[in-house]
Amino acid sequence: MIKRWLQAAADVVMPRVCSACQHELGADEQWLCRRCLAQLPLTHLDEQPFNAMEQLFAGKTPVERATAYFYYDKASPYAGILHDIKYRDMPRLGRWLAERAMRQMPAFAADVDAVVPVPLHSDKLISRGYNQSLYIAQGIARATGAKVVQALKAVRPHSTQTHLSAHERWHNIQHVYALAPGMERRLAGKHLLLVDDVVTTGSTLEVCARWLNTIPAVTVSLFTLAMARQ
Ligand SMILES: [Zn+2]
Repeated sequence: MIKRWLQAAADVVMPRVCSACQHELGADEQWLCRRCLAQLPLTHLDEQPFNAMEQLFAGKTPVERATAYFYYDKASPYAGILHDIKYRDMPRLGRWLAERAMRQMPAFAADVDAVVPVPLHSDKLISRGYNQSLYIAQGIARATGAKVVQALKAVRPHSTQTHLSAHERWHNIQHVYALAPGMERRLAGKHLLLVDDVVTTGSTLEVCARWLNTIPAVTVSLFTLAMARQ
């Protein structure tokens, strides 16, 4: 009751808005309004064998299963969610959505031992203040009880690379990540869920999954909040 009253008072001072439609939220709504939440374009990829996301990695590196929570394209109001999570200091929105996603598809990560976020280089971590993928991993951990393990590190800054060809980009990204010390032993034989905010070409996830697949007898699955619609 007091919490609700405080929220209502805070909303008068600085109204919270829906990350998708930008309309003011009611006291009982958080992050997204009821309407945008109901219309979130869910992928349901977890229900499809050899789905479109799993196909991105076929013949590249072993992936047990892969899913994204919702579809995303730049013109959609739902792009606002990813923008808020990544650039507008709202990583807790990512944690909240990831927890919600996992509660809606409990079978997907039921046998996962550890949730591994795609890492952010320390330069970026300082300028942004947080790694949104770590928050997404925490949301999954809340729903599944699996541990968050920061098994990967970003050893080089990841430039935006918009001026590079797909091949050059791929070549550049190879050496951005590495396995954190001691992980071969700690995670041997485990089922790992590698998580990120968005999947587009899949090259970041592929490089990270390749590193995880160097751990003995490991199984790697993938989850992202959003998948870019072609
Ligand atoms: Zn809305």
